[in-house]
Amino acid sequence: MKSLVLAEKPSVGKDLARVLGCRRGGRGYLEGPEYVVTWAMGHLVELADPGTYDSRYKTWKLEDLPILPKKMKFKVIKRTSRQFYLIKSLMKRSDIGLLIIATDAGREGELVARLIMKLASWKGPFKRLWISSQTSKAIKEGFGSLKDGHAYDGLYEAALCRGAADWIVGLNVTRALSCKYDVRLSAGRVQTPTLAMIAQREKERENFTGKKYWTVKGLFGKFYGVWRSPEGAARLFSREEAVKVAEAASNGEGFVTGLKKTVKNIPPPLAYDLTALQREANIRLGFSAKKTLSTLQSLYERHKIATYPRTDSRYITADMVPTLPGRLTSLKHTSFWPAAQKLLTQPLVPGKRFVNDAKVTEHHAVIPTGDPVLPENLDSDERKLMNLVIQRFLEVLSSPLVKEQSVIRIKVRNETFTARGERVIKRGWSSISGEGEQDSDGEDIEDIPYQMTTFPPEGSHVKVIEIKVHEEITKPPSRYTEGTLLGVMENPARFISNTALRASIASGGLGTPATRADIIEKILSNNYIEREGKTLRPTSRGMELLALVPEELTLPVLTARWEQRLARIAEGSEKSSLFLSEIRDKTVHLVREIRESTKKYTPVLSRGKKCPLCGQPMLERKDKHGRAVFACFALSCGYEEPVDTGSGFSRPPGRKEKALNRKLISRYSDHSESTSSFGDLVKAAEKRKKK
Ligand SMILES: [Zn+2]
Repeated sequence: MKSLVLAEKPSVGKDLARVLGCRRGGRGYLEGPEYVVTWAMGHLVELADPGTYDSRYKTWKLEDLPILPKKMKFKVIKRTSRQFYLIKSLMKRSDIGLLIIATDAGREGELVARLIMKLASWKGPFKRLWISSQTSKAIKEGFGSLKDGHAYDGLYEAALCRGAADWIVGLNVTRALSCKYDVRLSAGRVQTPTLAMIAQREKERENFTGKKYWTVKGLFGKFYGVWRSPEGAARLFSREEAVKVAEAASNGEGFVTGLKKTVKNIPPPLAYDLTALQREANIRLGFSAKKTLSTLQSLYERHKIATYPRTDSRYITADMVPTLPGRLTSLKHTSFWPAAQKLLTQPLVPGKRFVNDAKVTEHHAVIPTGDPVLPENLDSDERKLMNLVIQRFLEVLSSPLVKEQSVIRIKVRNETFTARGERVIKRGWSSISGEGEQDSDGEDIEDIPYQMTTFPPEGSHVKVIEIKVHEEITKPPSRYTEGTLLGVMENPARFISNTALRASIASGGLGTPATRADIIEKILSNNYIEREGKTLRPTSRGMELLALVPEELTLPVLTARWEQRLARIAEGSEKSSLFLSEIRDKTVHLVREIRESTKKYTPVLSRGKKCPLCGQPMLERKDKHGRAVFACFALSCGYEEPVDTGSGFSRPPGRKEKALNRKLISRYSDHSESTSSFGDLVKAAEKRKKK
């Protein structure tokens, strides 16, 4: 009997087939003496459309809501159905005795495989390949220690629940809002609270009024000191007061009345999980969250030099420690080699900040796999991102940075000035720089001026060179970048004013590391937020949506709690039926709130195009074939036209548009006109309206 191996996509399937010695094969699979390897193309099965439950759900009507199927139905995705039926036929082969799930080792990957098994009615035994690297070595080891398939039943349950919850909440709230206000609006379980956080920051900025304040600074020989009140405050809120302080201190002599030195051990930062890497890459490389994920995916899957991307752990397990020298050796051809070599000459004893079995659940932190890193095989983005991964990996294995920090107090007449300085005693992890350049002698360097030179000793005199008043202004909170937004999505607790509630979601975020990039992209593509340089800001459309959505859905509490419960379902400590009945109840409640709302929709009429039929604004969006169209805002109008792509040729109208145009022409025609051009008719109609 042979085993059927199901991979997530063709490229990964072919890698597995190579390692398993499967060379023969037809379209869509590869076969060897022991295994038959086949692959999905991402999801091959999806949740059925509302129309499947009842054909009247094909049209959007407020009175049909909420739509709450008792049991969710699934369907084979048409576009890739050929591959689905191929897998099904392989499952039916009499020489296949075991199925090995080898899809992506995470919640979505589990769902990809289980839904195929469900719709293809696989009844035989199954096992799970669970690996964190795509190297040949890791694949071989993984097949040598396959897990029991049912060990991941909880994960499958959680994935099903998440899909059902997104479908139920998203579909009902989106339809309810759109029908109620006759406008295209889209809301969802995760995207709406995320949008709300961006909008709240914008409101804080709008309501912010900068306050002027003054500081007094003194130049003492080689360093500046800042004036402080006896209570320690540096800001003065009147210019006169500041001038008075400056005058009182001018022409005086300075005495050092205190010098406090403390030695600080600063441990290296933690290794990367996906969110931390996305944040860092956004700050240092300007990458979007999505770009970091797709680049990391390629480093993992294609180049096999980085470990599993969709992880939420920043640690490795104790049994991985013996693999560390091999991972360091794999850096031989990179500019980090001198630093790696230096680490290899010492015994590696990583501490609890890197090795912690309790903090690794499904996958460990993102680190090099141990396959040789060959920078010339990487494109520029891959190289930049891999450099971040390598740098952090070397940092976590290095010793702490040791600094001496000092605070000096200087008295000039009756006024006190303070200054802070620091001196690096041991560079430790901070000596590993982005480009892998090392100090030639490799020794820790004493006395590197960091921010300030050493201060004069206590009791000594210092020369007052000048005393100056500075006018400053308080700054509004900054807009989110993708990096900072990922941070608050991971930990939205600070948006919750109720302390008990805040504690209850302490570990719950909005979305998961694997889904956050897509959520941000979705809000962008819905035109609810836009990029301004590196920052994100809500559009007027986004603000309009939030004004109409039930408040509960705009707060992170609900979603963060649901996310926590999904995690418990994955662990097997909560029943999915309980969760889904709460989702249904909440949806009933949300729909009722929208239906009974007395809110009025008041669009900020955007500059752009107006609908030739009803005068509502037109919005650029993608139709279901992915083509750019201008669509009328009003749902009941439904007018659409293709966007002129600037090529000089606009896309010929599709079947639906032709039909719609005919309808419009007949509506606008008065029988005396004989032209068939829709544009002319509209112009004529508008002229008549004005008369
Ligand atoms: Zn219209």
